[in-house]
Amino acid sequence: MRRDVAEVARGVYVATSRHYATTSTLVVSGGSALVVDPAWDADELGGLAANLSHLGVRCAAGLSTHLHYDHVLWHPDLPDVPRWASAWSAQQWREHRDALLQPLVGDLSSELLDLAGHLTPLPEEPRPAPAALPWSGREIRLHEHDAHAPAHLAAEIPDAGVLLAGDMLSDVELPMPADDDTDLTTYRMGLDHIADVVARSTVVVPGHGTPSTDPMSRLDADRRYLDDLDRYGASDDPRQGLPGMAELHAANIRRARI
Ligand SMILES: [Zn+2]
Repeated sequence: MRRDVAEVARGVYVATSRHYATTSTLVVSGGSALVVDPAWDADELGGLAANLSHLGVRCAAGLSTHLHYDHVLWHPDLPDVPRWASAWSAQQWREHRDALLQPLVGDLSSELLDLAGHLTPLPEEPRPAPAALPWSGREIRLHEHDAHAPAHLAAEIPDAGVLLAGDMLSDVELPMPADDDTDLTTYRMGLDHIADVVARSTVVVPGHGTPSTDPMSRLDADRRYLDDLDRYGASDDPRQGLPGMAELHAANIRRARI
């Protein structure tokens, strides 16, 4: 059964999971499509494949913005194609598969567990030059940073003015730094790294939450939150009251430089 999708820009369709408002994006070009961060339940993943059939396009490739378990899923109805990810993310799944898969055990079928995390490493290019996704359909520029996770990718679709932000710039999730970011510096560097692309984009799609036609407001909110923590050790950011955010907020306060 097909899923409800929102066409946020020409040929860019976003579906939202029942879990944590996790977004999956279909980028269509002619008869082919790129599937970004497909999630989450079996019926939802199968629904994405049904959506592609309905659109009359074939899945040419996948893209995982980062290595977390909810961004590396797949489904038997999706074809065996390259599922691109940063070289580091792909390496982590090769070397630490069982540990990375653990949060999904008991949640997904063994068939879906077997399909998760088979990532194709992107060619490594010197940073900060944006790499292009090796897909002939549309230009996808990849901006790599270490804010939410090491080697995290933001995917820019220049012809549509869309930024697929991965787990950044969310209206339902506070900034969630990588484990080794002890003072929020790496997170700020990540925001700085994508600031230009945020400024020139007209739509942002966060990995969890609601797409926005005002991407700069999301960047401003995250910077304001980090500034408040550094200056006052507190923030009135409304996201801290959302489910699951109290613990993250407390951890961020501990990281702040006060
Ligand atoms: Zn994540």
